[in-house]
Amino acid sequence: MNYKITPTELLEYYFCPRFIYYMNVLKIPQYEDRRFKVQKGRNIHEKRMKENPDYLWKKLQVQKRLGATQLSSERLGLNGIPDDIVILEDNSYAPVDFKWAVYPDYVYPGHRIQIAAYAMLVEEIFQQPVYNGYIFYIRDGSKAVEVPITLTLKGKVLQAIKDILEIMNNEIIPDLHRRRTRCLDCTYRNICV
Ligand code: SF4
Repeated sequence: MNYKITPTELLEYYFCPRFIYYMNVLKIPQYEDRRFKVQKGRNIHEKRMKENPDYLWKKLQVQKRLGATQLSSERLGLNGIPDDIVILEDNSYAPVDFKWAVYPDYVYPGHRIQIAAYAMLVEEIFQQPVYNGYIFYIRDGSKAVEVPITLTLKGKVLQAIKDILEIMNNEIIPDLHRRRTRCLDCTYRNICV
């Protein structure tokens, strides 16, 4: 069975291609503090969901929530679990991803790629149209942001999958990230720059 890329790996790749080299070729895990932050966000999210499960869903016209579901596609070379999948009033499906972050006034390219990858998986597995994905930014209040799943975005997902597999198969370290400010709080900073 071929290696399947996860939407989270696509997000990491968009942050910096070298992440893939460190994580998937050299097998160096990210530092604990980053994982701790992710876990903290998850715990708070779960608490809020239990206290008030409707607090974000009211913003979407949802017929039904399917919940977090494992999705895998040989054809796409993708594998992942979106935080939720919803069926909307128009019968289209949509993946939902929660971010333990304040909405930064626009959706980062990595977040777009990640939600588009989930959307492609949903489309493939359920054989239903997916027009939008939703990202819920849940830190300091909450905001539901709609991301249109365009052909261009899908093309970027496929290209990123190809690039990631190339890094893994050829075991060649990618160039330093051109936006060096990114390196300042990068978990691999000490071994990279
Ligand atoms: S330190 Fe900079 S170049 Fe190295 S992995 Fe991090 S972001 Fe990429």
